[in-house]
Amino acid sequence: MAARILDGNKIRDEIKQELAEQIQELKASGITPGLAAVLVGEDPASQIYVRSKVKTCESLGLYSEKIEWPADTTTERLLELVRDLNSRNDIDGILVQLPLPPQVDSKLVLEAIDPAKDVDGFHPVSVGNLVRNRPGLVPCTPAGIIEILRRSGVAMKGARAVVIGRSDIVGKPVAMLLLHNHATVTICHSRTQDLPGVAREGDILVAAMGKPAFVTGDFIKPGATVIDVGINRLTTEEEIREIYHDPTGPLEKLKAKGSVLVGDVQPEDAREKAGAFTPVPGGVGPLTIAILMSNTVRAAKLRRGMRAAAKA
Ligand code: NAD
Repeated sequence: MAARILDGNKIRDEIKQELAEQIQELKASGITPGLAAVLVGEDPASQIYVRSKVKTCESLGLYSEKIEWPADTTTERLLELVRDLNSRNDIDGILVQLPLPPQVDSKLVLEAIDPAKDVDGFHPVSVGNLVRNRPGLVPCTPAGIIEILRRSGVAMKGARAVVIGRSDIVGKPVAMLLLHNHATVTICHSRTQDLPGVAREGDILVAAMGKPAFVTGDFIKPGATVIDVGINRLTTEEEIREIYHDPTGPLEKLKAKGSVLVGDVQPEDAREKAGAFTPVPGGVGPLTIAILMSNTVRAAKLRRGMRAAAKA
């Protein structure tokens, strides 16, 4: 039987609908949650991400401010900016789009953000809260993965969960969240021995390694839930022929659009072997911005001593 597709767009819309209601309530009591998005330099992908974050704020009725500075901005100037945003009451969330230019000390800048406004969840205080399972702001993509699992009725309690990838942005925080949801968690990485064998133990398999279609059928336990975090762009016929068993559809897409997106999981294998899986595009991706919005609303509430939903 073909696997169930976990539709990230549908879940994103549900979350946005719930957020719109919360935002209306906050506005009725005179509070408009605000997000500042800081973009340094002209990286095209970063420009697209920031634009779509600001657009989503606008569509939900959140206040947003896009701050665009040139590529030669210094660490000192950025620290001043962050301090200023920390002190403003109309700003609840501060997002510094990564990567920052090489002359900037990214760590210093991210650590200067007030943890109460750390909507990306990268500050060491946020990381500490996550590890201790205390209220705080959780990184967006990992929180989105948990929302997909929860809202799709995938049991985490007692399940064997295998995470491939140990980055600070995805692998480690999603492993911690799965642990807090009572899964038995294994984290794999580039030095893991017998990766397919370990991956096959997972009732839930999260692939977050940034390697196109690396996770093939022999990594997937039959019936497992497979969460594909990877976003890889294929631009040549050779790449497509190498990856797909039936390359017809992707080749047509390449011709029409100039590129094809594929995750870290071989999609035909996932469809055949998994019980459920997130497609690329349209799986994990759509959740990331929705959770950023949710974190902004959450920060607005927590900063004012109001109760916020326990989970993102
Ligand atoms: P990263 O490069 O920081 O980390 C990759 C991790 O994968 C590393 O821990 C590494 O040990 C592991 N890895 C690499 N090669 C491996 C191999 N051959 N075997 C086992 N493990 C291996 O990447 P990241 O920031 O965690 O992102 C991972 C992927 O998720 C990327 O494709 C990225 O584009 C995507 N991503 C998607 C979203 C989203 O919104 N959907 C958000 C963030 C990242």
